[in-house]
Amino acid sequence: MKIAMTGLLLSLAGIAGATGCGPDQLGTARTITLKREAALYGALQHAPLPLKKGEVVLTFDDGPVPATTPLVLKALADQCAQATFFMVGSNLEKSPELARRVVEEGHTTGVHSQTHANLTMMSAQEQLADLRQVQAAYQAVFGKATPAYRFPYLEETPTMLAALKEAGITVMSIDLGINDWLPEDTTDILVQRLVKSLDDTGGGIILMHDVNVPTAQALPALLKLLKQRGYSVVHLEWN
Ligand SMILES: [Zn+2]
Repeated sequence: MKIAMTGLLLSLAGIAGATGCGPDQLGTARTITLKREAALYGALQHAPLPLKKGEVVLTFDDGPVPATTPLVLKALADQCAQATFFMVGSNLEKSPELARRVVEEGHTTGVHSQTHANLTMMSAQEQLADLRQVQAAYQAVFGKATPAYRFPYLEETPTMLAALKEAGITVMSIDLGINDWLPEDTTDILVQRLVKSLDDTGGGIILMHDVNVPTAQALPALLKLLKQRGYSVVHLEWN
């Protein structure tokens, strides 16, 4: 009886949790589960993900940071939209609880180097040491190996590509971005950039930065724009 009651309460909690998500929200239309097989995605540099016209994947780089990542999580939760966060190892080490909160809220994570250095300026040994460090940082926080990697500045190196392949780690480039790293950018500017990028590409993997204050402030408007234009969100997971 006790077990049955617990089950009932869990079901009710599930219903209550879902009531905020409806046709008015952007939502998450479907999930693609990727294998840990070192595939390379993102039409800017590699093969496109198997997306349909009008589908987007939301990705956020460089966090997690206490100042802005919670705002990004709030905007995503308000729209019932799920995203993938490519985290910098040094930030993972500084904010492990915030990193775990990202996952608890239904998002997925990969890494984005240990210190966000330009790997093309580093020796092969330094690059591999950076990879080992960020892999260890991820493992320490999440208790499992990182499934995915995004290069800082999207600057790839043969050394790193070979090491990621060997480790079975997905390399995730992008299809479009909104160049969101200028502190003086306004919500209007970022919305206009997203409009132009969507017009140019028709959708795909969108790069944004959860550490950028204007992005965190603009995200409710950016997600609303996606909803208004009829885009649907695809969530990435790894098995
Ligand atoms: Zn970055």
